[in-house]
Amino acid sequence: MATKSNGSLPPFKIPEIEFTKLFINGEFVDAVSGKTFETIDPRNGEVVAKVAEGDKEDVDLAVKAAREAFDHGPWPRMSGHARGRLMIKYAELVEEHAEILAALDTLDAGKLFSMGKTMDIPSGASNLRYYAGAADKIHGETLKMSRELHGYTLREPIGVVGHIIPWNFPTAMYFMKVGPSLAAGCTMVVKPAEQTPLSALYYAHLSKLAGIPDGVINVVTGFGPTAGAAIASHMDIDKVSFTGSTEVGRLIMQAAAMSNLKQVSLELGGKSPVIIFDDADVDVAANLALLGIVYNKGEICVSGSRVFVQEGIHDAVVLKLAEKAKNWVVGDPFDDNSQQGPQVDKKQFEKILSYIEQGKREGANLLCGGSRHGDKGYFIQPTIFTEVQDDMVIAKEEIFGPVMSLMKFKTIEEAIERANSTKYGLAAGIVTKNIDIANTVSRSLRAGVVWINCYFAFDVDCPYGGYKMSGFGRDLGMEALYKYTNVKSVVTPLYNSPW
Ligand code: NAD
Repeated sequence: MATKSNGSLPPFKIPEIEFTKLFINGEFVDAVSGKTFETIDPRNGEVVAKVAEGDKEDVDLAVKAAREAFDHGPWPRMSGHARGRLMIKYAELVEEHAEILAALDTLDAGKLFSMGKTMDIPSGASNLRYYAGAADKIHGETLKMSRELHGYTLREPIGVVGHIIPWNFPTAMYFMKVGPSLAAGCTMVVKPAEQTPLSALYYAHLSKLAGIPDGVINVVTGFGPTAGAAIASHMDIDKVSFTGSTEVGRLIMQAAAMSNLKQVSLELGGKSPVIIFDDADVDVAANLALLGIVYNKGEICVSGSRVFVQEGIHDAVVLKLAEKAKNWVVGDPFDDNSQQGPQVDKKQFEKILSYIEQGKREGANLLCGGSRHGDKGYFIQPTIFTEVQDDMVIAKEEIFGPVMSLMKFKTIEEAIERANSTKYGLAAGIVTKNIDIANTVSRSLRAGVVWINCYFAFDVDCPYGGYKMSGFGRDLGMEALYKYTNVKSVVTPLYNSPW
């Protein structure tokens, strides 16, 4: 497979890593234990930085600061307008530092630097602006009531929130969680993934520059079973918002149930179908299907990893896909010519390769790819299996890498049935020019988002989250803001009414 190499390294200067300590109550501090852990550059396996390893005691300190800021600090008591102004300042600072922030995500996660600079970081800033605009529009309702009572509701901030985030979109995930909870008036403890702690610490620094009061945003870097688990089971956290694997999502719910019954929202794994109908344009369909699996090197929970192609167009789509995959450029993520960087770490790299081997053993046809790219770092060739059966492991389990399972179907009913035949329900794609097919299929799919003739069409105004074992609760849009609020009902009798 001839994935092109991109030649020499780009001129970009790797930045100094400034922030490696925990951010608690507005200060960068060492972990109580003094321990650190290494974050690794997936381009070559080399150490980027040593970062403070937070544990339960550090989470306790961070929660104490967040609790104090919520119970007695200005943030929840400020007008929404005042909160919004500080969030806009925060957004401006994020944009000003886009280059270094994109570089940090590239070093930690192997994400394309050009994409970080032009998409991830600006979309983080847009997210802050969207919720800044909403901060003074958080309304309750006046109730009609069925008897002589005056009733209304208030939407109040839920309190101290624990945000546990994954490594695949360190910036987008940070702002998806922090943006709406800030606007709601919450205070928070953020735990970035251990693979990608650097940008979150930089965002903590910028929050201070923006004037967000101490204790409102705290960042505890560290591992899941220690720092993450301490958040999930903390008695003084009111809500935990988690994005990550279905397996860990289960542990989070258990810990919440066994501690203080804190509210939980979970954004989990997926095995999303892309359904291409006979009437689709072959070129458009192949582009969309390829993008669906290689974007962010397949490390995206909504990746279109199961592609169903109707029999009339199947062979043409397969041919086109092979041609396009061959020209896909895998290479150094700092190089603007690269379209795909390395997988996040060795563990993920090996897991993906083992799924590829499993696909070969199970008898799927390897159309292209099928092994690592180059001999250094964690790069993997875009890999497409055709003639995949629904019960093969590669068609059922989330691989979280650039590995597509392509299957043929005959009828609409069959496509719906097979697309829904998964424990997940995060996203789905439909490619057709027929509006009746598009409407019928989109209503029939059990998924939190359905993209018709597009894929990954995210927007800050568009709620996003799962059905089934892909979780519950929504990020983005006004839905996300509401999940960080509690509804309080206030009732008084009308004059002389017998209540
Ligand atoms: P993961 O579940 O292992 O880790 C996610 C986060 O949870 C990390 O911060 C980690 O440190 C923490 N964590 C791990 N164990 C924990 C525990 N016992 N208690 C508390 N926290 C713990 O997931 P991952 O491997 O980092 O990410 C890949 C997975 O995330 C994939 O399955 C993917 O589908 C999913 N994901 C989902 C979405 C979505 O929006 N639905 C987005 C991105 C990733």
